[in-house]
Formats: sequence, structure tokens, C-alpha cells
Amino acid sequence: MKENKKLEQLAEEDYKRKSNSKKKEINYYLEKMNKLGLKSIDRFVKYYPNPSKNMKKGVTYAHLGLETIAEAISNKKPWAVVSGLNPSGPLHFGHKLIFDELLWLQKQGAEIFIPITNDESYIVNKTKTIGESRKNAYDYVIPSIIAMGFDSKKTKIFVASDYPDIYNVAIEISKKTTLNKVNKVFGIKESDNPGTIFYRGAIQLAEILLPQYEEFGGPKPTLVPVGIDQHPYILLSRDISEKKEKFISPAGLYMKFLYGFDGKGKMSASRKDSAIFLIGGPTKAKKIIKSSFTGGSPFADFQKKNGGIPEICPIYTLRTYHFEKDDTVYNECISGEVLCGECKEKAIQSITLYLENHKIEFEKAKNRIEDFILKKPLKSLFY
Ligand code: SF4
Repeated sequence: MKENKKLEQLAEEDYKRKSNSKKKEINYYLEKMNKLGLKSIDRFVKYYPNPSKNMKKGVTYAHLGLETIAEAISNKKPWAVVSGLNPSGPLHFGHKLIFDELLWLQKQGAEIFIPITNDESYIVNKTKTIGESRKNAYDYVIPSIIAMGFDSKKTKIFVASDYPDIYNVAIEISKKTTLNKVNKVFGIKESDNPGTIFYRGAIQLAEILLPQYEEFGGPKPTLVPVGIDQHPYILLSRDISEKKEKFISPAGLYMKFLYGFDGKGKMSASRKDSAIFLIGGPTKAKKIIKSSFTGGSPFADFQKKNGGIPEICPIYTLRTYHFEKDDTVYNECISGEVLCGECKEKAIQSITLYLENHKIEFEKAKNRIEDFILKKPLKSLFY
């Protein structure tokens, strides 16, 4: 009897802790939106005929300047999307979420620019050499991107160190900002190497503004899907674009972070059990899912009665954001109808199918890399 009371108490405490995490999660994004002056995506979702799955699910939740893009779409004018990534290892399901959004944006008419920032991987010590991150880019990252189904005619991928013109753009725009501004936005530390400062204050901004250069059709609305931590880049790029004749301020599209499977924060390649990699194979994925943190209770009876907390559950986000079409997982979870073991089994089935198919497309994509690589020289900088 005493033992039962103790278990009940533990279950209550666990539930309370998880409910608090849920509240914190909701408040975090609301506070950030208010503080940074971002607008909710709700209005766009209401009026746009076919918003993306990420927008409908609230993964894409806010924007800054999306009006320029909506106008370009309705006037059938060209517009671009820039979304880069750091090739410190293979892509995981957190990356996939962003690429799902890019695929949707491409279907709405965007030309997609994907800078693979192997220079950054080296500068911030994610890889030992520039060569290592360059190899990751071609061996893992680019084939995985292509395997997701991008259209080569409307996709431009470049590995920073293989497209040195990006550094010429960075030099050019570096004169349109100051170290003081870069410091205010990012907070430069004395221990930062100069490469970090040049990367943050110029190279990444050059990547955002690249589609507006003459070689790519000149000034145009540009959308940059980012996590909230990347907001400073949007601010600085907007500031610089105002100093470039006819350039249009880039818009930001803000996406939530995915929970890691280890329950220790956002999904990250640097914590191996927090992420499932797209080329990691079903066996490894199964192991991570089986031992994953969840929003459920360690006590089955308690969960049957009170339900789980899907808002903080990585299994819920995996299933809903990547595989399921409707709210079934949510409803089954909060009602206590399905418990975590069964829910995890369903996640394993879906992910196994996905990973097997991705592996086939990944192998085919290795032969198509050249079709996607940006090679156009940027001559307009020199006359
Ligand atoms: S039932 Fe599924 S969604 Fe709900 S907490 Fe458990 S694993 Fe997460």
C-alpha cells in the first residue's frame, strides 16, 4: 500500500516536470517572437491556398518580411530561398525538416540556393581540416539533399571552399557594415579567431545576398529559413541590403528546433544518441528510438489515466512531422489510448521504410552531384 502511494507520487512528479517543460517550450517561442518583433505565421497559413505541412503543424511558426515573398508569388515574379548548412557530418532528421520546407518552397516557385559551409565547420572546430568537411559535403550531405527530390534546374548547391567567388562577395559587402555592429549582434569574444568574425560578419551574409547579384537575375525577394539562433544573420543581411542599390531586404522564416532523442535539448549531430541520421541505417535508428526519452510516464497505469505530453516528446515529433498526415498520434497520446512502447514500434516501422528508400535514392544521387553544383563565376563584381 505504502509502495503504491510512493509510485503514484513519483508518477505525479514526473508528469508535473514534463508539463512545466511543455509550458516553457510554448513560452520560449512566444517570448522570442515578441522580443524580436517577429510575426506569427498564422495569417499566412489562413490565407495561403496550400501552406506547408511544417507551417500547419506549427514547426514553421514565425516570419520577418514574408510579405515580399507573398507579393512575388502572387505577381509571378522571381524569388529565391537561401538555406545553408554546416557539413560536420551526415544529415539527420532535424535537417530533413528544413529540407522538407525547402522542397515545398521550391514547388511554390522559389529558386533554391544551398551553401554548404565547410569553411565554417573548420573555423568553429567541428572538423579538424577544411578537407574533412569538404569530403563530408560531397560524400554524405549533397547526395542526401539530392535524394530528397530537389529539381536540379531550380537548385544551386555550392561548397564554400569550391566556390571562392563567395569570398569576393564577402569582401565587397564587408565594407557595408562595421565591427561594432557585428559585435553588437553576435558578441565577439577575445578568444574568437578572426575567421569566425569574417565568417559571421561577411561570408554568411554574402551567402544570403548572393541570389540578388546580376549573375542570378539581380535584386529579388529572398527568404531564409532559420532557427531562432540565426536571427542575427537576418538582421545584419537586412541592414547591408539597404546599402546595396536596389537590393531587397531578405525575409526570415523561423522554424522550431527538434527535440533530441536523448531528452537533453535540441537534436544535434554532436550528441550521438540525440539524432537519427538519414544514412545511419534502420538498426541504429531502432536502437535510438527504443531507448528514447518520451513525454509519457514510466508508469503505464498513470499514462493510461492521464495521457502523455506529446509537445515535448521526440517520438511524437518524429512521427507527426515526418510521417503522419493527421493528428492521430496526438489524440492517441493525450487520451492514453496508446502507450509509449506501441508508439515507438510504429515510429520504427515508418523510419525503417524511410531509411531504406533514402539509401536507394542516396546511391543514385551520387551520380547526379554535378547537375546541382553552382559554378557560375561572379564577374559583375569586377566591372
Ligand atoms: S505515446 Fe508516443 S507521443 Fe505520447 S509520449 Fe509516448 S512516445 Fe510520445
